[in-house]
Amino acid sequence: MGLTVWIDLILFIALFVLFVYVFASVTITNLHKAYLVFHFTMMLWPFCQFAIKTTNNPKIQLFHVKFAFIDLSLLTVGWLLFTIFLTGQSHFLRKKISSLIFVPVIFIAIGVIINPNGWFVRPMYGRYIERTYGPIFWFIVIILITYAIISIYIIYLALASNKTTRIKKQVYHVLQGVWMLIAFVLLDILFNVVLAKSLPGVIPGLTSLGILLSAIFFVIAIHRNKIFDIVTIAHQDIIDTIGQGILVLDDSDMVVEVNQALLPHFNLHIGDRFDIEAFLPQEHAANHLELFLHTYREQPLDKMEIELFYPDIDRYINLHAAPIIVSDIRVGRIITIQDMTELHRLVDETTLQNGFLQERNLELIGIQDELFHTNRKLKQMAITDSLTGCYNRHYLTQQLEHEVMENMKYQTPFTIFLIDIDFFKSINDTYGHLIGDIVICKTVEVITQSLRKSDILARYGGEEFIVYLPNTSQAQGKKLAERMKSTVEANQLIIDNVAHPISITISIGLLSLNNFTTKHANSPTIHLNDMFQSVDKALYQAKKEGRNRIVSIVK
Ligand code: GH3
Ligand code: MG
Ligand code: MG
Repeated sequence: MGLTVWIDLILFIALFVLFVYVFASVTITNLHKAYLVFHFTMMLWPFCQFAIKTTNNPKIQLFHVKFAFIDLSLLTVGWLLFTIFLTGQSHFLRKKISSLIFVPVIFIAIGVIINPNGWFVRPMYGRYIERTYGPIFWFIVIILITYAIISIYIIYLALASNKTTRIKKQVYHVLQGVWMLIAFVLLDILFNVVLAKSLPGVIPGLTSLGILLSAIFFVIAIHRNKIFDIVTIAHQDIIDTIGQGILVLDDSDMVVEVNQALLPHFNLHIGDRFDIEAFLPQEHAANHLELFLHTYREQPLDKMEIELFYPDIDRYINLHAAPIIVSDIRVGRIITIQDMTELHRLVDETTLQNGFLQERNLELIGIQDELFHTNRKLKQMAITDSLTGCYNRHYLTQQLEHEVMENMKYQTPFTIFLIDIDFFKSINDTYGHLIGDIVICKTVEVITQSLRKSDILARYGGEEFIVYLPNTSQAQGKKLAERMKSTVEANQLIIDNVAHPISITISIGLLSLNNFTTKHANSPTIHLNDMFQSVDKALYQAKKEGRNRIVSIVK
């Protein structure tokens, strides 16, 4: 045979390689691929049977016989794979061990191709149209029947399991197909191999018919259950139910896909030309629209985004455009459109609520401030004498209880004055109670002038006052008391509505504490009462001795 004979075969192989390439690289699902391979192998069997009879050359006949049987074993494996797919166990095929399924096929192929001593097939009458089969043939039959049994077993497992009714239905059809194929193959073997010698001639096409019938069952299963359409249907469902509008344009801006979400607001259909300018709202802040349009037209490879407001439908819309790029070439554009109106409303509402909250917050801060001041005032009032503004007796006793204990502890000397205005009754009697009040207040002012910062002055009751002088010895205390007494005496009280200035004097009982060994060390109240009694005695004595004087005692 010359080269010219092979040219067509070479071209066939080239086309076949091309087919395999396209088949492997396009994005159809694995299920599609498995089915196509399977269907291809089904087609080959009857073709080979036909081809055997088209030639008288025994070598070419033998080639077709071998080819047919290799194909048959592939077909059987195909059955098994397809069954596994259909019963929803394709995860098994991802395991490495799954490739072991092909091992028997390789052995079959080797046995068939070598055909040692005619153990696979022998010609009858020098040709292979009629032929006798050897042990390798029977080995093949056993293996193929084993595959078929495994297929049927898997199918029965699926039927008995809790798979969905959809899977069960499609599996049921496949089961019918498998039985059909097995039945015809067995008939073929029976009539054309086992009983070949006792029958007048070969009954043609039995296995081929079985393959055709099982393929018909397959096709029914595929159509009824939409096995192959599921992914496409799911894609369409996703596109149609998603909240975003999706618009797919080809490179000449023709609409090739548009989803339901877009339809209510924009009248766009597949086949329309998409005009971005017409799509944008008419009245819009010109600047950023211009910029967007410019980018859209001049830089189609960029992704871009713009937010638009459509006054006629009162909606905010976010438009996003991105190129569809295949192998560095732009083949179209995907435009997604998201309704932002709800989000805007929420943001507006949140801002409003925030404003309210802020206002309320400021109000609360104001109230808190007021409360703080009132509280401070109340505290101040609780410790202040309302007439004179100096501390009250309650505060003084509280303070002294603490101070006295501290002084005892650290042995710090301190002094107490008990002051009483002399002949105050006669002031009241002469000028009235109100003027008496003013006299008390003015006297407090004068007394305060003689005090140091650390001294505490408190109204003890009526026109009597107590001064606590911390860290003060008797000598220092006497000096201060003396100065106080003289200042009061020298002071002329000028009061409205009183014709002439009033002069008063005070008497002071003074107690200095230097002795820190006290029997009341643990009870400040008793100790304090003790001190008050002593200082009261001193004041009483001052009064008795003629007033306007100081009587000092040390404890
Ligand atoms: P002395 O102390 O020198 O013995 O004579 P006195 O007249 O001041 O006598 P005493 O201290 O006992 O009298 C106090 C008087 O002060 C009795 C009361 O009428 C008067 N008094 C007490 N509290 C107030 C007051 O808040 N306002 C006025 N105007 N008078 C008061
Ligand atoms: Mg008095
Ligand atoms: Mg008095």
